[in-house]
Order: sequence, then structure tokens, then C-alpha cells
Amino acid sequence: MEKFLIIGASGQLGTDLTLALRARYGEDHVIASDLNEPSGALQPGPFERLDVTRKDRLKAVVRKHQITRICNLASILSARAETEPKRAWDVNINGLLNVLDVAREEPLSQVFWPSSIAVFGPDTPPVRTPQTTIMNPKTVYGISKLAGERWCDYYHLTYGVDVRSLRYPGLISYRTAPGGGTTDYAVDMYHQAVKNKSYVSYLSGDTLLPFMFIDDAVNATIQLMNADAGRIRVRSSYNVAAISLSPGDIASSIRQHYPDFQISCRPDYRQKIAGSWPRSIDDSPARRDWGWQHQYNLDKMTATMLDKLGL
Ligand code: NAD
Repeated sequence: MEKFLIIGASGQLGTDLTLALRARYGEDHVIASDLNEPSGALQPGPFERLDVTRKDRLKAVVRKHQITRICNLASILSARAETEPKRAWDVNINGLLNVLDVAREEPLSQVFWPSSIAVFGPDTPPVRTPQTTIMNPKTVYGISKLAGERWCDYYHLTYGVDVRSLRYPGLISYRTAPGGGTTDYAVDMYHQAVKNKSYVSYLSGDTLLPFMFIDDAVNATIQLMNADAGRIRVRSSYNVAAISLSPGDIASSIRQHYPDFQISCRPDYRQKIAGSWPRSIDDSPARRDWGWQHQYNLDKMTATMLDKLGL
């Protein structure tokens, strides 16, 4: 049976993906790892402290647990990467190269690595952005994700590594705090709706960006990982989409549950990052090749978020 190593498991996606894989494959078959302690939801459960930039340690963990598949989620996200560009490059690219090399050398049966809509830039067609188009990202994070996509494609073509990847939009979840991305405001807005009934947004109220609820993101990931290799036609990274939202849209949806909820907007440096990204994504290749379909619209997501956070 397959044995997974989740790198970056303590983060927003890692926590939910590890839980979902453990429910499906059993706790002993899914080893969580991170620089930081595991989030409460992952305890108890097998855990290794691991820095993905240290290849020797990565290889030792893979051998110790007889790992067959790695999900490498360790990353410095968009807003934080602008404040630590060199560290972001080190974690996002050298970390990925360590994983790809270990996959080739051991060999492993599969690597999953997330890209992002941040690979696109201001020259990209912003509406229904196609799978293949002009990229030219302007952020350190986007540059690292685009380079990572090319490395994934290269390791597949040159060394036959079974690499699979998704360009996630902004992810919205309730189990863990988000880790420094430009779309974090959406998660925070739900938290503040429950606590304070008001929110100050760092993006303008009409800034439209692509988002996805965490359950859809986890399902997309597991579906792609388990698809027959012959159906995977994109080895750089697939566009995946669910809903495009602005702070104003989310506030309106929250008001159906909390009619007094107020937002005000004070845009900061993240407005420029958001302005360079697409407003909506064309994910028809993912839907055609391996049957991707999202389940959550805005109101279903809002009801779930407020229910989970309000308890
Ligand atoms: P996060 O910041 O919540 O989690 C990342 C985890 O990686 C953290 O727990 C952190 O401690 C860990 N980490 C950082 N440096 C490390 C290192 N050197 N070695 C080992 N672990 C390290 O991020 P997330 O939101 O869970 O994102 C997961 C992946 O999905 C990332 O690749 C990210 O770029 C991608 N992604 C996320 C979003 C989003 O909205 N959250 C959108 C697009 C793409």
C-alpha cells in the first residue's frame, strides 16, 4: 500500500489534506512533517520535524518510513514572500528540487506539489484565464511557482518522475489560520464576522479574485493524485477553479446570517499583488482530463464557515 509524506502538514492545506488522506489510507500510512509542531487537529498521529531545504534529512525520513509518495506543501506564500524574497526562493524552489531529486533517486511512485494562480501576471488575460497563456508574474512568489512548474514538467519529461500539480486559487478554510497569502482576508472576514461583526479589508471592496473552499481543494488534490497516469496531460500544473469573489460579495453572503456585519476597506501593498492576478480561471482541461468538478458555491461555503467557526 502507498505511504505518504506530507511536507508542510501543519499549514492551512496540509492540515486538511493530511486528515483526508488519513481517513482514506489509515493514520500509519500518512506521515505529517513540518518545520513547526503539528496543528492540534493532527495530534496524535505520526509526525517528523523536517526542513524541506535539507535533502539529507528528507531522504532519511523517506527511508525510515518507506515513503512511496510525497505531497510537498512547504512554501512561503505571496504576501510574506515579498518581505523575504531569498528565503521564499530557497524554500519554494530548492525545497521542491530536493523532493524531485529524492523522488528520482529512491525512486518514489508520485510527487504532488501545488502551484498557484500567482503564476499569472498583469499581461495575462484576466477573465477566464486559459491553461496556457502569457504568464509574466510580478511577485517573488509567482516567479518561484512558475519556475517550479517548469521543473516539475522537466523532471517528468527527462527522468519520468510522476509529478502532479494544481494551480490553486485562494483557499478558504476554518481549521487553521492561513499562512501569509494575499487572499487570507477572506478567511479573516469569516472569523471577524463571528467575533466582532465588522472587518477592515486590506483589498478594495470590488477586488475580484478566484477562490475555492478547502473541501473542494482537498478533493481536487486527491482526485488528481489518484487519476490514471494516462489521463494526466499537463505535467506543469493544472488550472482549477471554483468561485470568483470580492470582499463585497463575501460580506453580502455573511449578512444573510449576521445582518449587522459591516466592512470597511483600507487597501495596502496587497492590493497591487491582487491587481496583477486573474479575476476568473478557465479550468476546462482539468474538467476534461480527470473529471474535476467543484461542489461549493459562495452561500454553501459561507454557511459552512460560520457554522464551524461559530461553535
Ligand atoms: P501555509 O503557509 O499555511 O503552510 C505552509 C507550511 O509549510 C507551514 O506549516 C510552514 O511551517 C511549512 N514550511 C515553511 N517552510 C518550510 C520548510 N523549509 N520545511 C518544511 N516546512 C516548511 O500554506 P498553505 O496555505 O497550506 O499552502 C500550501 C501550498 O499550497 C503551498 O505550496 C502554497 O503555495 C499553495 N497555495 C496555497 C494557497 C492558499 O490560498 N492557501 C493558494 C495557492 C497555492
